[in-house]
Amino acid sequence: MKIAILGAAGRMGQNLLRCACKLNECDIVAAVERSDHPAIGTRVKEISGIRSDRLNDALCFADEWPEAAEAIIDFTFHTTVVDNLENAVANGQAYVLGTTGLSDEEKQSVYAAATQVPIVWAPNMSLGVNLLLELVRRSAAILGPDYDAEIVEMHHRLKKDAPSGTALGLAEALADGRGVNLKEVACYGREGITGERPRGEIGIHALRGGSVIGDHTVMFVADEERIEITHKANSREAFASGALRAALWLAGRKPGIYTMRHVLGFETA
Ligand code: NAD
Repeated sequence: MKIAILGAAGRMGQNLLRCACKLNECDIVAAVERSDHPAIGTRVKEISGIRSDRLNDALCFADEWPEAAEAIIDFTFHTTVVDNLENAVANGQAYVLGTTGLSDEEKQSVYAAATQVPIVWAPNMSLGVNLLLELVRRSAAILGPDYDAEIVEMHHRLKKDAPSGTALGLAEALADGRGVNLKEVACYGREGITGERPRGEIGIHALRGGSVIGDHTVMFVADEERIEITHKANSREAFASGALRAALWLAGRKPGIYTMRHVLGFETA
C-alpha cells in the first residue's frame, strides 16, 4: 500500500518511518511536514537516521499534498486536521487519524469526511492497549462486581496529568463490561478513614517515578483468587505499528469511521 505520513519529522512521524521500513506491505511515498519546518527539502534518511534499503533514497520532506498515496497517516496538530481531511476526500484517500485534542468543530469535519472516505480514528493506536481494553471489558462482564476491580498505572515523573487517559479508558471499559456508570462507582486513590470498600467500586490509582513510559495493570480480586492483566509500553513504536496496521486494514473499506476495535476484529466493519 502506498502510504503518506503527515507530521513526518515529529516524534510519531519518525517512529512511523522506522516501523514502515520493517513492513513489506508498506511503501512510503511521501513524508509531509508544515511548510516552515526546517526539515523541508532534506532527505528522510538524513533526519530520521533510517538506514533501510526499503526507504526510497530520494524521498525528501515536502509540504505538498501527497496525491500518489492510497492512505494518509496523520500525527500532526489538531488545527491542521480539517484541511488535511478535505484534501484526502478530494483525492479519495483512506485516512488514519492519530492526532488528538480535536475541538468539537474539528470532530464534525471528521464525521463529514467519513461519509466519503474510510477513516480509522483512535486516541491510542497501540495494539496491546486496545487488546487490554477488550480483555478488561470481557473480564468485567464475566466476573461481575463480586471481584473487586482496581486499576494501577505508572508513568514517568514528568507526566502532568493523573490518572492517565488510558487508565480512564480502562475504567470506562470495566464499567461498560459491568453495565454500570463509571461516575457512580469510581474511587480515585484512598486516604484516611475510608470505611469498608463498597461492592462494585472501581479503584483507580496513579504512581509516578523515573522514566517509565506507561504501565497499566487491572486487577480483579476475589477472596479465593486474583487476576491481574498488565500492559507495559516500551516505546512510541507501539503506537506507530498500530497506525500502520490500521492503514493496511483500510484497503478496500467502505467510507465510514472505524476504531482499533474494528482493526483488531472485535467489532465487524
Ligand atoms: P510532534 O509535535 O513531535 O509532531 C507533530 C509534527 O507535525 C511536527 O513535526 C509538526 O511540524 C508537524 N505538523 C504540524 N502541522 C503540520 C501540517 N499542517 N502538515 C504536516 N505536518 C505538520 O507530536 P507527536 O508527539 O508526534 O504527536 C502528534 C500528535 O499525535 C499529537 O496530537 C499526539 O497527541 C498524537 N498522538 C497520538 C497517539 C495515538 O496512538 N493516537 C500516540 C501518540 C501521539
